[in-house]
Amino acid sequence: MLFDDPDFKETIASVLVPVAVPRAYTYKVPPGISVVPGTIVRVPLGTREVVGAVWDGEPDAAINPKKLKSITHVYQNTAPLDADLRRFVDWVAGWTLGAPGMVLRMVLRSEEALEPEAPVAGVRRIEGAEPDRWTDARRRVLETMEDGFAWTKSGLAHAAGVSPSVIDGLLQQEVLEVVSMPAAPPPPKPQLDFSQKPLTPAQQAAAEGLVKTFDKPNGSVTLIDGVTGSGKTEVYFEAIAEAIRRDRQALVLLPEIALTEQFLRRFEQRFGVYPAEWHSEITVKNRTRVWRGVASGDVRVVIGARSALFLPFKELGLIIVDEEHDAAFKQDDRVPYSARDMAVVRGHISKFPVILASATPSVESRVNAEQGRYTLFELPERASGAALPDLQAIDMRMEGPERGRWLAPGLIKALLETFAEGDQSLLFLNRRGYAPLTLCRTCGHRFQCPHCSAWLVEHRFQKTLVCHHCGHNEKVPDACPSCHNTNTLVACGPGVERIAEEVSDLFPQARTLVLSSDIAGGPERLKREMKIVEEGGADIVIGTQLVAKGHNFPKMKLVGVIDADLGLAHGDPRAAEKTFQLLAQVTGRAGRVTGGGRGFLQTYSPEHPVIRALLSGDKHAFYQAEIEARRVAGLPPFGRLAAVIVSGPDKGYAEGYARALVRAAPHDPAITLLGPAEAALAMVRGRYRFRLLAMAPRQFDLQSYLRHWLSIGPKPTKGLRLQVDIDPQQFL
Ligand code: ADP
Ligand code: ZN
Repeated sequence: MLFDDPDFKETIASVLVPVAVPRAYTYKVPPGISVVPGTIVRVPLGTREVVGAVWDGEPDAAINPKKLKSITHVYQNTAPLDADLRRFVDWVAGWTLGAPGMVLRMVLRSEEALEPEAPVAGVRRIEGAEPDRWTDARRRVLETMEDGFAWTKSGLAHAAGVSPSVIDGLLQQEVLEVVSMPAAPPPPKPQLDFSQKPLTPAQQAAAEGLVKTFDKPNGSVTLIDGVTGSGKTEVYFEAIAEAIRRDRQALVLLPEIALTEQFLRRFEQRFGVYPAEWHSEITVKNRTRVWRGVASGDVRVVIGARSALFLPFKELGLIIVDEEHDAAFKQDDRVPYSARDMAVVRGHISKFPVILASATPSVESRVNAEQGRYTLFELPERASGAALPDLQAIDMRMEGPERGRWLAPGLIKALLETFAEGDQSLLFLNRRGYAPLTLCRTCGHRFQCPHCSAWLVEHRFQKTLVCHHCGHNEKVPDACPSCHNTNTLVACGPGVERIAEEVSDLFPQARTLVLSSDIAGGPERLKREMKIVEEGGADIVIGTQLVAKGHNFPKMKLVGVIDADLGLAHGDPRAAEKTFQLLAQVTGRAGRVTGGGRGFLQTYSPEHPVIRALLSGDKHAFYQAEIEARRVAGLPPFGRLAAVIVSGPDKGYAEGYARALVRAAPHDPAITLLGPAEAALAMVRGRYRFRLLAMAPRQFDLQSYLRHWLSIGPKPTKGLRLQVDIDPQQFL
């Protein structure tokens, strides 16, 4: 009948669906329903239904309406995604050459959150009603309810110390009635004046500077470059306070979940409440609550991993990226994006301040600050007044340990002294497990992953050999699988477990603790152990890069780096920068509060510029040299890089395709194409990998070039995959 009406005009809308397609699709809008850009809807897609969002841009009116499918459901309880967030999604997709739907998918992570939270059934006293007979239990229940509030049945039974049947009885007699209660009250608001530490003059100046950035009409980016322990957290807390004062929400991004626990407590000390958490380890229930709370505005401050950047904040007004140099802010799979850079973009779109903080900023951020694009605040001294640790190299060629041992005598002596003083030490080695390579002494057989070109790493606690790239693991065999001799397997080189073994030999009385992301017990155990270290409950901690990041361990006095050369050999343009950052951070754990910290770097190349820069403590000289080298080589941030990674199950075919792709590249004098070269990790999960690298000057629109190239180049077939990585951080 409707369709016979001559005045009836079919309405259609663009809907972005969370799959890898290049643009929004057109759908019919059922009569009587109105949608606006951003409205979250369900639509049929192939044989399934998916959640998507009505998107900007004209729907395709040329499609025969008979062929169009209809929106099947409109989520009325969630506000439409706002224009800034939609622009952000499109921007990230354009920058990464990703599908906008895949970026939207990061926004719509929490499907449960789209429905209103189901109310909880509660019970309440009916005024004036009395039970037919008074028992002790009934009296206790009614006394508990004297305040007149509604209770959940189980909560009431528990509080009154009765069994639930007592409450059922009172319901039956109509003394109590069932009411529906809101599922959870909104979280309490942070209290601006709960407790503020008196700031040092340098902190105060930086905090005031940050507060002023809120007045800039177009937003701003500020870099806080402050030495380890300079109190950057206290400084940016004042920016959070300002955001709250201005009725804005704030987001703090941290690179590591293991850091959140300490952050939560510090936030609570400052603001009297906990902020909301957002990362992969939170429960579905909490994820749902946080998503809703962020969208409704009930949640004012979120602390999270990089994915928190895609939450639908109602009125976001500040993003802080702490440890901004950290590689964990880069997502390497699906949509490869840098959360630090995209935080800057989100701030730019919505015109609010973004704060980057680090003791060892990325070269990119340093250059941006020096060239005036970012405001810079430096905190050259520790808040406690403690001196930075005194660093020393141990030349392993001359002062190294005997064969099969990993701790040099000089380091052992320092450990002994620290232990005798009752202080804490940290031994740092960025290698999980017991040994990075296992081989057979008789035939030389090496244990390799069947799916990756990588050695299997022995994990002695778990008695397994593990691939750190795909997770493949096998039991350590009794006999060599190649020559079948028994007891011939030897572990080559150290991992943290092996260092722990040596420490137990040397210091049987010391309380030792291994901190590594793969210890049994998962994140819960890791959190507990971090707290133990923080409270001084361990004497010698042996850890991977996990301990290098931002932790505050007040009792730690000594840091020994087992292999300071480990990161320097990588064929990565950022190898020097990354090694400097990692080692400055990890040695920065020493003596943060009380001073008197010491650090030892075990190295075979004490003359290397990175090691020398660390020893001299002249951070600025290191940055200046590194910046100059990048400028000369045209490397980021003075030039732009993009990697194209081709992978496939057939090696020859993948390589042939990569070559054909290079041949199809449009000539442009601004572009230098390198490769294809077999990737350093030539095979991962059974797929052979070839890398191409495109280099361009800074002003060059590399994305447009790549888009054009890939559109005219050969299409990947036969299981080939093509991944574009703008500004790659990993060169494996
Ligand atoms: P950063 O993040 O710069 O490494 P933190 O913010 O973690 O430093 O601070 C290091 C330590 O100094 C913490 O224990 C912190 O509580 C303390 N601290 C920071 N600022 C002050 C201050 N103004 N007064 C007293 N202690 C402070
Ligand atoms: Zn593997």
